[in-house]
Amino acid sequence: MKLVFASNNKNKIAEIQQQVGSQFEIVSLEEIGCFVDIPETAETIEGNAILKANFVSENFSLSCFADDTGLEIEALNNEPGVYSARYAGDQKNAEDNMDLVLQKLATETNRKAQFKTSIALNINNQQHIFEGVVKGEITLEKIGNQGFGYDPIFQPEGFSTTFAEMNIEQKSIISHRGIAVQKLLHFLKNK
Ligand code: IMP
Repeated sequence: MKLVFASNNKNKIAEIQQQVGSQFEIVSLEEIGCFVDIPETAETIEGNAILKANFVSENFSLSCFADDTGLEIEALNNEPGVYSARYAGDQKNAEDNMDLVLQKLATETNRKAQFKTSIALNINNQQHIFEGVVKGEITLEKIGNQGFGYDPIFQPEGFSTTFAEMNIEQKSIISHRGIAVQKLLHFLKNK
């Protein structure tokens, strides 16, 4: 079964395709001929996932799902949250974003944080929302070179490595997006 994933982020597509296996073929926006950078103007993570899924359903009449993720840091009043991609500016640069977080937490002892993902699935004229959360801590420096985004500075609870030191398989089992995708798959297989 083909499922449109409202994204062109190759890291995320690879993570999700690895997780869903051969039962579902994940199709990107480019593959359906959608080259629009869908505006993410909602004030919540869930709201942005809904915006993206609805854009595809309304313009392409296809079943699809979209995700949105935010990093919530306790000592920063849950910043960067919905602004995670452009925390250090519109250039959306991961190094700049991590540097800003490390700088803001320089003298902070509470380094608790969590990643939250919402997935909105539009199928058979209905919408379903799935959420995944992983708790952890912001490290004192960047460690590891796998993954993307804030992976080098996020150490999940119960682990002594950052996400950037894990391979895709290890990360998917415990990550925010991995958990949300597991819920999505459970729904699709049982509907
Ligand atoms: P998006 O909504 O999935 O595009 O995520 C927004 C921003 O959150 C991204 O630009 C990344 O900076 C960050 N992000 C999302 N997922 C991850 C992840 O799995 N690891 C690290 N950072 C992530």
